[in-house]
Amino acid sequence: MPLTLHIDAARWREHLSRFVEPDGAAVVPVAKGNGYGFGNSTLAAEATKLGADTVAVGTYEELPEISQAFRGDLLVLTPWRPWLGGAGDDERVIHTISRVADLQTLVQHGGRPRVVLEVLTSMRRHGIDPGQLETVIELLAGVRFEGFALHLPLAGDHTDEARRLATTAFSTVEGVPRRLWVSHLTSAAAGELAAKTGAEVRLRVGSALWLGDRGALAARGTVIDVHQVRRGERYGYRQRRARRNGSVIVVAGGTAHGIAMEAPSPVVTARQRAASIAKGGLEATGRALSPFHVGGKQRWFAEPPHMQCSMIWLPGDVTPPAPGDELDVDVRFTTTAFDRISWG
Ligand SMILES: *Cc1c(COP(=O)(O)O)cnc(C)c1O
Repeated sequence: MPLTLHIDAARWREHLSRFVEPDGAAVVPVAKGNGYGFGNSTLAAEATKLGADTVAVGTYEELPEISQAFRGDLLVLTPWRPWLGGAGDDERVIHTISRVADLQTLVQHGGRPRVVLEVLTSMRRHGIDPGQLETVIELLAGVRFEGFALHLPLAGDHTDEARRLATTAFSTVEGVPRRLWVSHLTSAAAGELAAKTGAEVRLRVGSALWLGDRGALAARGTVIDVHQVRRGERYGYRQRRARRNGSVIVVAGGTAHGIAMEAPSPVVTARQRAASIAKGGLEATGRALSPFHVGGKQRWFAEPPHMQCSMIWLPGDVTPPAPGDELDVDVRFTTTAFDRISWG
């Protein structure tokens, strides 16, 4: 009963290998969360094929799955915190440290773990304030320093900010390897940063790598059942009455897959808001437009999606699909759990 992610393997892999070609900066593939729709073990295997020496994971909990399919180094993006306990036992793991107090605690645990020091950027998520960097100098003897990390915002060009922070970091903490781990720079900007700072730049990339060529990917739900419904007849959990003749299509893809459970989107203008209501919102009668397409058109939900399938309403003048057919479905890859991947 699958919701399937179809991958044009040759096209997708061509995009991946073009993306990781050196442009003055090395690419560190990111595998985290739902694995951008592919699953983390698929991404780990692809990173191996790409010849990556390091994969960045989101959390410590994700390490076991990813470390099976990828044998290189593993950078954990979520900063280490004291409640995670000793950290020096896995040689392949590089920890992100974002507070001076955490570095002190980690040093006390011993074992000289590998660490990246995250410097606070205008993103203001995690990071040591650049003005506090002096206090880490004497602690670095207790760890293996692997570089500074900069997590930059998505909006705007932050190459100058990265260069400024890197210059401050390397002039405050001298005599360490000049290595920068950055996020959300274009590879050209990362190359420029490398040239301007004389640092080895490692670009951590998820979306632009795995989802950068959408044309290589298609999400489709398999039609499981089709029912003709006459005007006035009831259907569904809610026993809604059909207002005209048509058909109810039962298709794979429900709330358990993340269908119709969009993450909050950064809608800012009134026009965008109106467009988003039109696209995913409710009709006056309480019906919602589904992400499924039949005959090239997005169709209405017959009722809110179920756990693993959805009921779609098709007007009587539209030829319904047959069980076994697949319907195109718009998904947000980072919130979708596919049943299977089909490599084409
Ligand atoms: C998730 C994450 C990335 C990858 O983000 P994308 O937008 O998917 O490329 C990079 N850096 C950090 C610190 C992250 O948490």
